[in-house]
Amino acid sequence: MTTRILPVTPQSLAWASELIEQGEVVAFHTETVYGLGADATNDEAVKKIFALKGRPTDNPLIAHVHTGYDISALVETPAWTARLRDKFLPGPLTMVYPSKGKVSRFVSCGLATLSIRVPSSPTAQAFLRAVNRPIAAPSANRSKHVSPVTAQHVYDDFAGEIPLILDGGASQGGIESTVLDCTGAIPLILRAGLVTREMIAAEVGACEFYRLHAGEKPKSPGMAYKHYAPACRTAFFPVGDAAGAIRCYREEAGRGGTPVLLCEHAVCLAHPDCRALDLGATPEEMAANLYAHLRTGEKAATLLIGIEPEARGGVMDGVRNRLLRAFGQDAKERGNDV
Ligand code: AMP
Ligand code: MG
Repeated sequence: MTTRILPVTPQSLAWASELIEQGEVVAFHTETVYGLGADATNDEAVKKIFALKGRPTDNPLIAHVHTGYDISALVETPAWTARLRDKFLPGPLTMVYPSKGKVSRFVSCGLATLSIRVPSSPTAQAFLRAVNRPIAAPSANRSKHVSPVTAQHVYDDFAGEIPLILDGGASQGGIESTVLDCTGAIPLILRAGLVTREMIAAEVGACEFYRLHAGEKPKSPGMAYKHYAPACRTAFFPVGDAAGAIRCYREEAGRGGTPVLLCEHAVCLAHPDCRALDLGATPEEMAANLYAHLRTGEKAATLLIGIEPEARGGVMDGVRNRLLRAFGQDAKERGNDV
C-alpha cells in the first residue's frame, strides 16, 4: 500500500470519507499530536487501529467529533460539565463520560465510559465534519514509541500500512490532550495536558489528579503502560545536576559515541560546547518541542541525556509527565496520568 500525505482539499476529504466508510484507517493532524482514526461505530475498523499500533487491547481510545456533533447521542453529560465544554472546547481537553453504548465496544475496551474530544485543528474539524460520525483515534505512533507531531513522524511509523495522512503542519500543542474523568462529583485528571488542573478548577471549583490506590482497578488502563520512549539509549539527571549530565556527556563522547543533551533553554546556553536539543524557555515551548526533539534525538544520538527542567505546576504537569516517562523515570509520576 502507498501512503499518501495530503493537505485538506475537497478531493482529499472526499477520499478520507470514502476510506472511513470502507472501514479503513486515516491519520490526521490535531493541535496536540497526530491521530490514527477509524469509524468508532465499526468493530473491524476499530480493531485495525489496535493491530496497526500494537496497542494493548485494554487501553481505550478517544472518540473525536466535530463542533456541531451532538454528543448527548453518545454519552450522559452531567450538568456541571457544560461549563468546561463552553470554556475549553474545541481544544486539547478529552472528557470521559458515562457511555450510552452507541459506539463499538472495542473503543472503550469494555469500560462503561466513553472519552470524547473536540479538536480545534481546522484539519481535524474538516475531516470530522466530512465523515460526520465519531472517529476513534489514539496518537498515530507505534505503541510505546514517541507520539507524532508532524505528518512525517506518522509516515516514519506507518509508511506502507495506511493509505492517507491528512497533513495540517506541525501540531502546535505538542503533547496529548488532558484526559478528564467526568463521571464523579469532582473532575479527575487521568492525564495532564495543556488544559491544566488550575484552569479546570477555576471553572468548576475543584479538580484533582486521579491517584491509583493499591489493588484498585485503574480508571484509565493506559496508565499501566510505558509510553513515549525514544529508540536509543537514554540517561536522565534531576534538576540541579547539570554537572552530572555534562560528565555523562563527556564520557560518552570519550568512548566515541555521539551524546546529545535534551534540556531547557537556560541549561543549553550554559553549555554552548555540547550538542543539545533546546526544549525552550516556557512550559508551552517545552510542550511544543518535546516529541519532535525526542524523535530527532533518537536518530542523532547514541545516548540521549535528559535534564529535568526547573518549572512546576500548570502546563509543566503534562510536560514533566511525558518527559519523565520517556526517560523511564515514571514510577514517581504514576497516578496522575495515563
Ligand atoms: P492516546 O490516544 O494514545 O493518547 O490514548 C488515549 C488515552 O486516553 C489513553 O491513555 C487511555 O487510557 C485514555 N482513555 C481513553 N478512553 C478512556 C476512558 N473511557 N476512560 C479512561 N481513560 C480513557
Ligand atoms: Mg498515545
